[in-house]
Amino acid sequence: MSDTEDPSDATDRTDDGFDDEYPVQVFPEAEEMDLRPGTDDCYKCSSCDTSCPVAEVDDTFPGPKFQGPEQWRLTRKEDVEVDASIKQCSNCMRCDSACPSGVPLSQMHNTARAKYVEEQGLSLTYLRDRILANYGTLARLGSRVPRLTNFVMGLGVTKLVNERVLGITSEREFPEFATETFREWWDERGGRDASRERARAERNTGGDDGSRKRVAYFHGDYANYNTPEVAKALVRVYEHFGYEVAVPDQRCSGTPMFANGMMDDARRAARFNVETFRELIEAGYDVVCSCTSCSMALRKEYPELFDFEGTDAVAASTYDAIEYLRIHEDLPSALADAEVSLGEFAYHAPCHARNQGLANQSREVFADLDGVEVTDVGDSCSGISGTYGWKEENYDVSMAIGEEMFEHMETVESGAGMTECPTCAMQMEHGTGYEVRHPLEVLDAALVE
Ligand code: SF4
Ligand code: SF4
Repeated sequence: MSDTEDPSDATDRTDDGFDDEYPVQVFPEAEEMDLRPGTDDCYKCSSCDTSCPVAEVDDTFPGPKFQGPEQWRLTRKEDVEVDASIKQCSNCMRCDSACPSGVPLSQMHNTARAKYVEEQGLSLTYLRDRILANYGTLARLGSRVPRLTNFVMGLGVTKLVNERVLGITSEREFPEFATETFREWWDERGGRDASRERARAERNTGGDDGSRKRVAYFHGDYANYNTPEVAKALVRVYEHFGYEVAVPDQRCSGTPMFANGMMDDARRAARFNVETFRELIEAGYDVVCSCTSCSMALRKEYPELFDFEGTDAVAASTYDAIEYLRIHEDLPSALADAEVSLGEFAYHAPCHARNQGLANQSREVFADLDGVEVTDVGDSCSGISGTYGWKEENYDVSMAIGEEMFEHMETVESGAGMTECPTCAMQMEHGTGYEVRHPLEVLDAALVE
């Protein structure tokens, strides 16, 4: 059962699970975005190039200055095609933060990547990238029989076929599907009505009238199908603070679609999400996300690339889940009497959290909590960048970027890591063998369990 009406026109799919607009059609809408002012703002300081983790380890990558202002200027001329190196950009967005002149680098990259994919047409690489970009489609099918899917995806022969045929690296373990999705748990628990009652009970206990305590949760695909424990932790923590939680129907935030040049897929997903969450915002809800790439997509990429009605309202009302609690609740007081026995965590701030100014939040939140220690492992990129590190041709670069983070993690001897991003968590586990938790799980352990 949904927490909002489901706009039926956004759910029509063909038998293969994809929407029936095909092939990808990018340019008409993309051309509406005039990026020339941003291009002219570039004064060639190269700060973006020196901040780029791919350029740092891969000499063949020309860097963000070329991918952004230079390439965009070139592609305005007829007969100039987008350079293939745009596919080497991992969409980490570090160059955005590094630019002192406000050049919209990642907007340029996303636009150029979409144009490149359109120019290249159909191929096995296109099919691979479209499958990766639409992980939610794969996950929805796979999670119907999770044990069987986990078994099949873990077989050596499956990995070999994925690598040889599609170019998906066999070096990584495919993430396991949960035997119960978050949404199944949510429905079983009674959905929004039950949440409202729980929140009201907490408010009565705390003497808070809670008149505006309502949040709409954007969980994304990964927390639904693979890590429902993170999503459950968010619900319990928010209800503990007296918030009624709504979990509306939703699609992928679009981040893997932008990163793979699948702009039409991203547009459809974004339109659906904006329509759905806009209704809840108008009813007094704010939007919270447990994944920092999802919050970044709703806040930054949607208004940069789309102009559906309500896009700006959704962007203005979206927060990372911990950021929101820090703004609206007295977390230090709530945690003052709490105690856990979780030990030390090697904490990695995802690039997309840095991009939103959230690099230090988890360290600061847990600074005075007894029984937990959070050690920042530095400001390097994890290297996986969503689907980027899953591609056979990027695997070595991905691991070379991650090396600095792995080394710093291993100075923390507990064998435990912490991050807000599910694919950074994959890379942390892959590079070190550490078990990685989300900060919301630690908050849940401290305040609720
Ligand atoms: S988004 Fe990241 S990988 Fe891409 S050009 Fe910018 S810094 Fe480099
Ligand atoms: S950091 Fe900004 S101004 Fe400097 S080269 Fe890159 S895009 Fe141009």
